[in-house]
Amino acid sequence: MSATFHPLDYFSFKNDVLMSEGVSLQALAEEHGTPLYVYSERGIQERYQAFKDTLQSISSLICYSVKANSNLSLLKLLKDWGSGFDIVSGGELLRLEQLKVPGEKIVFSGVGKTTSEMKQALLYDQNGILAFNMESLEEADTLHSVARSLQKEARICLRFNPSVNAKTHPYISTGLKTSKFGLEEKDILALLKKLPSLPHLRLQGLHVHIGSQITSLKPLEEAFTKTIGFLKKQKLKLPLLNLGGGLGVTYQKEKPPSIEQYGKLILKSIQGLDPKPRVLIEPGRSMVANAGVLLTQILYRKHKGKKDFLIVDASMSELLRPALYGSFHEIVPVLKSSKGPFKTTDVAGPVCESTDVLARDRKLSQSLKAGDTLAILSCGAYGMSMASHYNSRPLPAEVLIHSSGKVARIRNPESLNQTLTRTEKDLVSL
Ligand SMILES: *Cc1c(COP(=O)(O)O)cnc(C)c1O
Repeated sequence: MSATFHPLDYFSFKNDVLMSEGVSLQALAEEHGTPLYVYSERGIQERYQAFKDTLQSISSLICYSVKANSNLSLLKLLKDWGSGFDIVSGGELLRLEQLKVPGEKIVFSGVGKTTSEMKQALLYDQNGILAFNMESLEEADTLHSVARSLQKEARICLRFNPSVNAKTHPYISTGLKTSKFGLEEKDILALLKKLPSLPHLRLQGLHVHIGSQITSLKPLEEAFTKTIGFLKKQKLKLPLLNLGGGLGVTYQKEKPPSIEQYGKLILKSIQGLDPKPRVLIEPGRSMVANAGVLLTQILYRKHKGKKDFLIVDASMSELLRPALYGSFHEIVPVLKSSKGPFKTTDVAGPVCESTDVLARDRKLSQSLKAGDTLAILSCGAYGMSMASHYNSRPLPAEVLIHSSGKVARIRNPESLNQTLTRTEKDLVSL
């Protein structure tokens, strides 16, 4: 099986209606309302399986990066297939606890873990989690004190910053010398020297993650080579090697390496290591991005000089990526409209920000009008998980289309009332 990452791998037109597993997305929009996130179980499962297949000849654990999409039902699917998880907060750990994910399948990343998050992870599931990815010398000291106070041992990997340019968007590059992420070689050496005085930390391996939406193997190869080169040079024989996530997907015309090519690179990279460590990877985007779409309804059409604007009911509150990174998402009408004439069109949301434009300068049919549904493609990763209440907007619903064609609503739409009563007390009298 060749796992690709195309926006229409799991959603396709039948008789001019956008469908998935025989389910009409127009019908979903009508039943559940818009904006609406729709996910394909098959899309996620095929990618998970492809990662597994490509690493089957070695000892490995796929640790899905929860921040890409943290819906409990999606996490449950992954757990049931045997996946591990990479988390970046206590909130994400709580989600995994709810699903009874074993601690042996969890690694914890992030530059700013608090002492309460450390405590939560050390006390998780009796023996704590598989590994904390350490990002600084101070963090290691802090983790050690927390572990000592609990009389626990914290298993750690050291996040190596290999000083590699991932050639991706600067906002999602993490392996540069100038980035806040990871430890430089000299800091790792200092930590290694200090470890004997930190008996509550147990070194398990190195970790490397140089960024996201990486569309060529080159920077990954460079990062792996440098990391493994460092292990060899220091004669470090450690049980784990965490190679991070970052594999890119096709949003527009990108041609990222396949999961198979990525796996082959990993196998080649670890060839010279003896004994072979257990390899962890942390895919997020590549697991879910193209398995999800965001449905939105057109509210208004505006003419402005040479350009038209379609104002839709989704916005940067539901899908932040275009406003945050200027990222591209393909947009298609759910009922295929090949009728011309076509006009250069911006698709914009109702939020009061100039950057609340979901798509710019697209050729869209002039016949599209208020009430029609559009599908914004490749929204499975960093879509719902980045959604906010900005402009006091309620969070949207999410549905999952099972491989059988059964549809499950995996998040109810938030009501306006819930946006008011969530947690805050607005009317404090002084
Ligand atoms: C965000 C993140 C990932 C996932 O990255 P993707 O590009 O979504 O695969 C993996 N590891 C770490 C440490 C991360 O911060």
